[in-house]
Amino acid sequence: MEDLANNILNIVSEWDIKHSKELYRLENWGETYFSINKKGNIIVRPKNNDKTAIDINDIIKNLEKRKLKMPILLRFLDILGSQVSRINEAFRSAIKEANYANEYKLVYPIKVNQLHEVVEEILDAGLEYNVGLECGSKTELVACLAHLESDDRLLICNGHKDSTMLELIIDAQMLGKNVIPIIERIDEYNDLVKLGKKKKFMPKFGLRLRLATQGSGRWAASSGLNSKFGLTIPEVLSIIDDTKDRGIIGQITTIHCHIGSQISEIQVLKQATKEIAQIYCQLKSLGAPICYLDVGGGMGINYDENTSSQDPSINYGTQEYANAIVYGIKEVCENNKVGVPCIITESGRALTAYHSVLIVPVISRHTRDILNGHIDKGLIKNDSLNSLFQIYQNVKELSRFEELIEAYHDAVEKHEDIKSLFTLGYINIKERGLADQIFWTTCRLLLDKFMKLEDLDEVSEIIELKSILTDQILCDFSVFQSMLDHWAIGQAFPIIPISRLNEEPKRRGILMDLTCDSDGKVHKYVSNENDPSFIPIHEANSNQYFLGFFLMGAYNDSMGDSHNLFGRVSEAHIYCDKEEKGNFWIEKVIEGTDIQSMLNQVQYFPSDLQKRMNKIVKHQINQGLIKPSLGTEIFERYLKTFVDQTYANHKESGL
Ligand SMILES: *Cc1c(COP(=O)(O)O)cnc(C)c1O
Repeated sequence: MEDLANNILNIVSEWDIKHSKELYRLENWGETYFSINKKGNIIVRPKNNDKTAIDINDIIKNLEKRKLKMPILLRFLDILGSQVSRINEAFRSAIKEANYANEYKLVYPIKVNQLHEVVEEILDAGLEYNVGLECGSKTELVACLAHLESDDRLLICNGHKDSTMLELIIDAQMLGKNVIPIIERIDEYNDLVKLGKKKKFMPKFGLRLRLATQGSGRWAASSGLNSKFGLTIPEVLSIIDDTKDRGIIGQITTIHCHIGSQISEIQVLKQATKEIAQIYCQLKSLGAPICYLDVGGGMGINYDENTSSQDPSINYGTQEYANAIVYGIKEVCENNKVGVPCIITESGRALTAYHSVLIVPVISRHTRDILNGHIDKGLIKNDSLNSLFQIYQNVKELSRFEELIEAYHDAVEKHEDIKSLFTLGYINIKERGLADQIFWTTCRLLLDKFMKLEDLDEVSEIIELKSILTDQILCDFSVFQSMLDHWAIGQAFPIIPISRLNEEPKRRGILMDLTCDSDGKVHKYVSNENDPSFIPIHEANSNQYFLGFFLMGAYNDSMGDSHNLFGRVSEAHIYCDKEEKGNFWIEKVIEGTDIQSMLNQVQYFPSDLQKRMNKIVKHQINQGLIKPSLGTEIFERYLKTFVDQTYANHKESGL
């Protein structure tokens, strides 16, 4: 009977995947890559020029067969290639349309995601566009140098460069490689010149400028005159004078600026571009033969955080970004009658963000308003408790807005009374438990009734009710490992269930991670709801429920830390191919970090721990506390966990 009722409900329910797309704002952040199929599952279309779709649920089924442990990071390597060509084509088209008489080069700043396969994929896809690299530290330099197979692949070196780095860079130039150190401070210039003299090879170099233009958004502080990086105009002029004196002005080939990541307003980019282009023209007229103008990174992507919040989404697309730079430089150069430079951008986030999706299983839910058992009326002796129960009974009959509001106020008042009575010792813990149970059930009844009325989103009582009835959802991941940008700077990432999107998600949840840290949760979500502090989520059923965390490919991978010793998550590298079953093949799986490697990182060594544990167990056996056979069993179980994963064994927990 009940099943029949449910079926009828499903048929009349108007919810379909269109509603899910709107609710989770999928079309705002998903670009052409992510969508929902008729089954209500999330699909990926990783290739620019081909609509072949992969159902993420098929990938998960496949990986479960291979026994890869959750959580899993899916890397769609085709998306990297798609982004490489999207950005390059946008610049090509701007250059053509503007009749810009020079070319464009993209260099990939590897700090955004250093994973070797990511870098290789970008370089491979970038071959036809001559994509280069950017490094910001000694380790990154060492990694990048070995990827300069072709002599004109560009490598831009930012960051503080010590003598080891400067020497490596000069060596690379001696080898005939196109490696450009970008000088950020006067000291660095002096060191470079000294080293050049010693090695009898004066290297080519670039200058990083501190612009007066202040960026916007979160990274505003990386630009402007007080930024951490770059040379002031007087410093640049003194370097120009010095190079003239030494007769090495011909070595200045590049000027560079970077106004910060995730530039939110195109106006700011235009302003900065014009300022740096002006400097380019002036320095050229002073005799520096600059041929590259590097405008840095910062091309934003649309995470689509709630537009009413203080961090607006970006207000431009890829083509507009390219146009702003190409036309901006052209205009300034024309006004100054100076030839246009080769344009470099260091777009990292825009290249990598889309390519990875973190798949996280829900382990359990903490739901207040679902009664576990019936209401024991025999316990209702106290007057306040009885009144609360009467309110609950009455609510069933109500439907008018005013009546519902009044009932809510009454219920809150009685619930407060009962909590005080409990604190004062007048009612016992069973009565208190019953009161909470009745109150939360009443709240659910009230909210369901309110939701049938029109447009009440702004009513404060309803906002309160929603917050009381928000579920805590325990998920198998660590915010500190996989979403450091969320924890550190409040970046919101789109999170969406990867199936059941043809059903209405009727509950609201807050996602908790596995760490024992009260900060270990997701506190900001991308959705169409006015309140961004929760995620709309489906009611639990008997199937495993997975959430997809999207746009995770920039910065998060390499910044994750080991809070509570949760290590790297498992990974699967996926290519799209319409000849294959499900339109995909898995090139590689990488197991997540095991317990012993995490322990090693903090200087616990398995052999030592095992010796100690063995001693403890033997001692208890000798004391006669346990039998030797049990002792051995316990010790062996301990040994076995060293190669276990750091995340939860959700499959075995029976949930
Ligand atoms: C981090 C960084 C970038 C990358 O910025 P995105 O916002 O990821 O494009 C580019 N250049 C420099 C100098 C950087 O420090």
